[in-house]
Amino acid sequence: MIKRTLGEIAAMCSGHLVHASDANKRVEGVVTDSRKITEHCLFVPLTGERFDGHEFAAQSLSSGAAASLWQRDHGAPPEGAVIEVEDTLKALQQLAKSYLSECGTQVVGITGSNGKTTTKDIVTSLLATTFKVHKTQGNFNNHIGLPLTILQLDEDTDIAVLEMGMSARHEIELLSSIANPEVAVITNIGESHLLQLGSREEIARAKMEIASGMKPGGLLVYNGDEPLLAKVLAEPDTKLPEGLKRFTFGLNQHNDIYPTGMMFQSSGVIFTSNVGPEGALSLPILGQHNVVNCLAAIAVARHYGVRDEAIREGLEHIDLTGMRIEIITGKSGVTILNDAYNASPTSVKAAIDVLEKMKGYRHKVAVLGDMLELGSQEEAFHEEIGNYLTPAKVDLLFTYGPLARKYAEGAYKHLPAQNIYVFSDKAELITKLQEVIHPRDVVLVKASRGMKLEEVVYALRDEQ
Ligand code: ATP
Ligand code: MG
Repeated sequence: MIKRTLGEIAAMCSGHLVHASDANKRVEGVVTDSRKITEHCLFVPLTGERFDGHEFAAQSLSSGAAASLWQRDHGAPPEGAVIEVEDTLKALQQLAKSYLSECGTQVVGITGSNGKTTTKDIVTSLLATTFKVHKTQGNFNNHIGLPLTILQLDEDTDIAVLEMGMSARHEIELLSSIANPEVAVITNIGESHLLQLGSREEIARAKMEIASGMKPGGLLVYNGDEPLLAKVLAEPDTKLPEGLKRFTFGLNQHNDIYPTGMMFQSSGVIFTSNVGPEGALSLPILGQHNVVNCLAAIAVARHYGVRDEAIREGLEHIDLTGMRIEIITGKSGVTILNDAYNASPTSVKAAIDVLEKMKGYRHKVAVLGDMLELGSQEEAFHEEIGNYLTPAKVDLLFTYGPLARKYAEGAYKHLPAQNIYVFSDKAELITKLQEVIHPRDVVLVKASRGMKLEEVVYALRDEQ
């Protein structure tokens, strides 16, 4: 984590140290949540919609923080070591940017509609075979989480793998300008945030903003199966660095890297690729979509000169963030695919494809909740997914939520009505599910974050 004197920190974020005598005081780490103050940290009070961190600055100083930032327009600062700044959020971002350049750490930035966290985890495990790597924890991928992630890295870190998320235009541009990636990855373009952005094309433009802050001569690794990315890349308004190198990945053979064979197993995929390490590679994660994420990761690892043997080894030890198609055995022995972290049309289809490839189970059960934030077409998106549910993919469908009813409407075309259960109450759904499932079934659980469908997983896991 960042270790600097207060004098240095003030210079790095263009702030004013209120008491010059504090200049040599040492700071270790940066905290924005006053409940998580650590000894000698710098407290950064942020002004949010519901809370104003400035109200907790004095208390943070008395409970161990070495110093606090203070936004000038908030009146007189508290007693103690304080750095005054124009804007605490901008100061946090500037501090992270300065720190990163002082450390000389290279950055791999990862954006896209689906698969950012997963790809970040795979990239990290491949690079960590050869370098000292720091990655975004969980989903800390926004204008606050990204600077905090940077400030957590140790000075001797070779590469930081940073997830960049967005819900509107110019957000990724900001993140890219803070992190200045040498390598940027765009996993794909889906329909998430369609409500805010209006069209898939606009989503592609928002993702392509990652290129705007890249270092000259950097490498952009992007999904070549998505024509919108190539289109947006060619638009005159797209900001690109000097000498940008490009590399595409995907399922189609026109990509720079693509799979040449895939064998789906109960806990992962064995695959080969055209230019990746020779021979079969074993990916211990389910789903064709994760093979695609893995190809992007291989391209990044190759760029940094990671050897083929190390890539193989890295794939064996992927430290995956939870609830992304996690395989869990329920109390009764039933197999659960916990993909409850989030859902959008692209990612629900990807998860259904995983179910299709699962062999040797009595019933394939899909428990699907609402997909949120899809805009005016939301009902049609749900119905289309319902229509995608053929008997080869799903035997029983459980829907949860008002929009999820539309899955059922689509699914009635292919599945017998008695195999479709529609719920608006989660507890009732769980009771019925426990009644009908069998130890030899596989149950996929997926919905948008707001639906908290992991409660279904916990119920199956902990059932008596
Ligand atoms: P968020 O925007 O919420 O941070 P994310 O982009 O980080 O999401 P992940 O957390 O890696 O994405 O994965 C979320 C879900 O998206 C997974 O549960 C999986 O179902 C799906 N997913 C992951 N990779 C892909 C992909 N390449 N294509 C389609 N769906 C994917
Ligand atoms: Mg994520």
